[in-house]
Amino acid sequence: MPSLLSHPAIPLALGLGLGRGLIPPRMLVAGILFSVLPDLDLLFGYVGWAETGIFAHRGFTHAMIVAWAVAVFFAGFARYLHGSIVTAFWLLFLSMGSHGVLDAMTNGGAAVALAWPFSQERLFFSFRPIEAIPQDFSLLLSEKGLEVMASELLWVWLPVLVAALLLRLLVRPGSRRRLAGGGTAS
Ligand SMILES: [Zn+2]
Repeated sequence: MPSLLSHPAIPLALGLGLGRGLIPPRMLVAGILFSVLPDLDLLFGYVGWAETGIFAHRGFTHAMIVAWAVAVFFAGFARYLHGSIVTAFWLLFLSMGSHGVLDAMTNGGAAVALAWPFSQERLFFSFRPIEAIPQDFSLLLSEKGLEVMASELLWVWLPVLVAALLLRLLVRPGSRRRLAGGGTAS
């Protein structure tokens, strides 16, 4: 996986690009949590559920349909996230769904069950520039850690920052207010 610090880049970019009127702080925090949620499957290993199959790391919790279903469910609580159902759905879906996509762009670790349950096949994209973090976390304190960090800055943080700035330029404040249901367009 990219490190747990890099998955939140997606919701943070959406928050930065769309502004707090559309993505209020509470919704942004939810997006950050949802962006790392798929890796809870690491716990399955601790309780000995499965070494292989859909419960193994990067299994069903990384599937796009699961991100969709979880986002549909929690968008129902949009009021508690201080935003609209539509923005809550998209933020949560993109935050959680992007996790598997980023994992499938890493150059190591297990392949990803992105298309489960429609396909049991685990996938990697052919374009895999993101340095996978080593199994032995202590290596992160060595030169390998710097390599991983540099790779994530280049292939995750830089592109999403550019995308956020473009969103900021393209979505005018009036549109943002209208989308948020908070007023008329300027
Ligand atoms: Zn993952």
